[in-house]
Amino acid sequence: MKKNVVIIGAGPAGLFAARELCQRSDFSVTVVDWGPDIKDRKCPAVETGTCIGCRPCNIMCGLGGAGGMSSGILNLRYDIGGDLSELVGSRGAADALVKEVDQIFLEHGAPREVSGTDIDGIAELKRKAAAAGISFIPIVQRHIGSEHLPAVITSFRQWLEKRGVRFLLNTKVNQIKPGRVIANGRPIDADYIIAAPGRVGAKWFAEEAKRLNVKLRHGPIDIGVRVEIPAVVYEPLVSINRDPKFHIRTKTFDDFVRTFCTNPNGYVMEERYDGHVGVNGHSLRGVKSENTNFAFLVRIELTQPVTDTTAYGRSIAYLATTIGGNQPILQRLGDLRAGRRSTWERIRRSHVEPTLKSVTPGDISMALPARIVTDILEGLDMLDRVAPGVASDSTLLYAPEVKFYAMRIEVNELMETSMPGLFVAGDGAGLSRGIVTAAATGLLAARGVLKKAGLA
Ligand SMILES: Cc1cc2nc3c(=O)[nH]c(=O)nc-3n(C[C@H](O)[C@H](O)[C@H](O)COP(=O)(O)OP(=O)(O)OC[C@H]3O[C@@H](n4cnc5c(N)ncnc54)[C@H](O)[C@@H]3O)c2cc1C
Repeated sequence: MKKNVVIIGAGPAGLFAARELCQRSDFSVTVVDWGPDIKDRKCPAVETGTCIGCRPCNIMCGLGGAGGMSSGILNLRYDIGGDLSELVGSRGAADALVKEVDQIFLEHGAPREVSGTDIDGIAELKRKAAAAGISFIPIVQRHIGSEHLPAVITSFRQWLEKRGVRFLLNTKVNQIKPGRVIANGRPIDADYIIAAPGRVGAKWFAEEAKRLNVKLRHGPIDIGVRVEIPAVVYEPLVSINRDPKFHIRTKTFDDFVRTFCTNPNGYVMEERYDGHVGVNGHSLRGVKSENTNFAFLVRIELTQPVTDTTAYGRSIAYLATTIGGNQPILQRLGDLRAGRRSTWERIRRSHVEPTLKSVTPGDISMALPARIVTDILEGLDMLDRVAPGVASDSTLLYAPEVKFYAMRIEVNELMETSMPGLFVAGDGAGLSRGIVTAAATGLLAARGVLKKAGLA
């Protein structure tokens, strides 16, 4: 008799877990996702620049997960977006896992070209960064592009369905119980559950985990801004590496600041969470803006007596949302330095035209703690030595950009939690922070199920 596996979430983690399991005739695999099919995912924020807070949010939910409407940048490095070597025990095994994930994306139509292989350019960037006192992290990247992702994900779905995987879309799992889940109020039997609910389901899953006495802990979060500059300023960098990652230690506080999610000729976009706004960025292969944007984030870790980074990050995001009148705040870097708010008039006088218009010109120092603002100012000045012009007065800063990583669920070597039969994968369990790492943890969780079932 077949064993039932229920996978919660059709993001990269859930889809890759399903792929691994459906190749064995021992399992009946059901993937449940709160959101719709990829072809029905539409976002007013992407189309019109204004977010009306759809529930479930089409950016974050549905077939393909949060990655489904993203730029689809595959970071082909085991320690970007989480550290896979911590889960598999060695760098070699982690590298092999990344290659496996990449190969599967290629089989489903991801473009063959990669960026980040220009050895001389990378050496030059490393040298410049070192001279500025910062680290450049070279990464080979595959850029699928928002407009190609639907075809890749549809191919993935069809491949899975051909092998018997059942999709229950527009269906929310309300509760996890031993041996079953309750979805849209109805029970579904499950010998094994793989929870891969992503960042959007992280809060719900953490509450479920606490109720089920599953062990979990708080991890660090990242808080900062989305930086928008003329594309020409970053062109010398993105021509070497499409999403150049810099790691910076700031002078005053010795804090860790990093660049993340660069979108050359891209667009800044608004995100809406429960009770607060946020910003992100994306780029399209077909439609280009004059600007490039990237996240500039400060790592926040809390030790004792308070460890709840999520509550801390949320209170900052709420404050930013309040002062922004329920919209992200936009400020020119020169205005932040001068201690004055930005206004539409000042922004219009500047030569960088914002790609996100549903914002409130204001003062980021009224929203973010002074320590974070100092880190941003010092960090951008350091980055300016690698990419002159980044810290110009006309540079635009959007706030808040907050990366809430899920609470880290404690797992054994099978990716099984302290509740027998409940396995986890992806961003929603605090195990990853990107498409490739999420997909890799999906493969690991499925292999954990195979081992537990005595099939590997
Ligand atoms: C705008 C944007 C751009 C991004 N760009 C990139 C990028 O270029 N490169 C990169 O590596 N990463 C990117 N990311 C991050 C990346 O998308 C995620 O790291 C990745 O998708 C995580 O995969 P996951 O499977 O763990 O979760 P997700 O992809 O978040 O999928 C989780 C799924 O679970 C479903 N779900 C949640 N709760 C429930 C429930 N209770 N019942 C049923 N279903 C539920 C959700 O609907 C969702 O579809 C981006 C993210 C965003 C938001």
